[in-house]
Amino acid sequence: MDEKEIKELKEKLFFKSKNVYDNLSESELAEMEEYSKGYIRFIDACRIEREAVAYSIADAEKKGYVEYNFGDKIEKGGKYYLNNRGKSVAFFRVGKKPITEGVRIAAAHIDSPRLDLKQHPLYENTGIAYFKTHYYGGIKKYQWTTVPLSLHGVLVKADGEVINVNIGDDDGDPVFYISDLLIHLARNQMGKTLAAGVEGEQLNIMLGSAPLPGADKDVGERVKLGVMKLLYDKYGVTEADFVTSELTMTPAMMAREVGFDRSMIAAYGHDDRVCAYPAYTALLDAESEDNTVMIVLADKEEIGSEGVTGMQCRVYMDIIDELAKAFRADPAKVRANSMCLSADVNAGFDPNWPDVHEKMNACFLNEGVVLTKFTGSGGKGGTSDASGEFVGKVAKIFNDGGVIWQTGELGKVDQGGGGTVAMYIANNNIDTVDLGVPVLSMHSPYELIAKADLYETYRAISAFIK
Ligand code: MN
Ligand code: MN
Repeated sequence: MDEKEIKELKEKLFFKSKNVYDNLSESELAEMEEYSKGYIRFIDACRIEREAVAYSIADAEKKGYVEYNFGDKIEKGGKYYLNNRGKSVAFFRVGKKPITEGVRIAAAHIDSPRLDLKQHPLYENTGIAYFKTHYYGGIKKYQWTTVPLSLHGVLVKADGEVINVNIGDDDGDPVFYISDLLIHLARNQMGKTLAAGVEGEQLNIMLGSAPLPGADKDVGERVKLGVMKLLYDKYGVTEADFVTSELTMTPAMMAREVGFDRSMIAAYGHDDRVCAYPAYTALLDAESEDNTVMIVLADKEEIGSEGVTGMQCRVYMDIIDELAKAFRADPAKVRANSMCLSADVNAGFDPNWPDVHEKMNACFLNEGVVLTKFTGSGGKGGTSDASGEFVGKVAKIFNDGGVIWQTGELGKVDQGGGGTVAMYIANNNIDTVDLGVPVLSMHSPYELIAKADLYETYRAISAFIK
């Protein structure tokens, strides 16, 4: 072989990675920018699962989706959503094809790591009022000090009244705060491991420092009393109502474009709202109505997908059973012919921390949506490990649709790892594979993604449900 033939042979036989920017036209790049703007609006408005449910349902209703409750009639061409306790939601559209051909499913999660309030949260120490917290999901505790925080969730009163709370994200709102030790006195702290430098019981949130106006010093806890009075005046709640409430603190930093070229987005909670947004918008924007499609936005993924709003709950399979029943089909057959994308983020390669990745199998910013055959950790524990046949089927859909995609393993074999909801769907005899956006600084208060990968995730899910 001559030099030219050898070069051609190499070209033909070797794998080549792609950069999204090399593959998008001017108009597609403009579309990507527009899409990113919509995503930024979504992520700024949705800090917790409840807010993401309300936001996505409002979008769906504009596109003709109607609320479904078990027992309601399901019709061909119908567009429905099941609002599961305001904390998870399933959108489904009945396609033209027979239901026995299965349902195309994409499942993402809308909960993110954060600091939940304990049930007895409020106290005063040295003239400062605090909330005690129990963190939700996997976090590096030290990252959550000295960042602005906002309060979200619901106050649930003894008489059953439920009040939505959202303080700290709007201009003019106050924020909340966790202090860290000044470096000058941190000799002991700096000698500790990162895991021990800030402890869970130190993630106490500063709420106020002014005594209740008019209260004498001998009243005691007059700052706590001042805070409690503000809450009583605004919401009518007493301290006892915290026990039945569900409140959390999230970073109060809004999403921003990152870099001179604005090619990236930093935000709180990309994991996994950066997949949830493409999943439900792909359905709402879909032109083809052939397939029956279900988009699940689930809660509780960060703590194991348990409970009535997590992906392990039967409710999502109950919907498939109802779809089958509506057309006198066997639910087992419908499930067997269904396919699912478990849409969740992956660990993007970070050149600052190259040692934890195995570069040949890592995913990279701007190389497109990540198709991941298996997640889990060391020895493939905790994954459904999609079959090669199914990965091939999905890859063909993407290739035919011109989607720029890559593969990616979550870190080196013995370095750690992480699971997704994939196995909980696959356990129902539904072929499932992981797919999502590479993220840097995952689970930190301010995570990073590339716009190009967000856009390709939208295109990938759009091609899959077509
Ligand atoms: Mn996730
Ligand atoms: Mn996560």
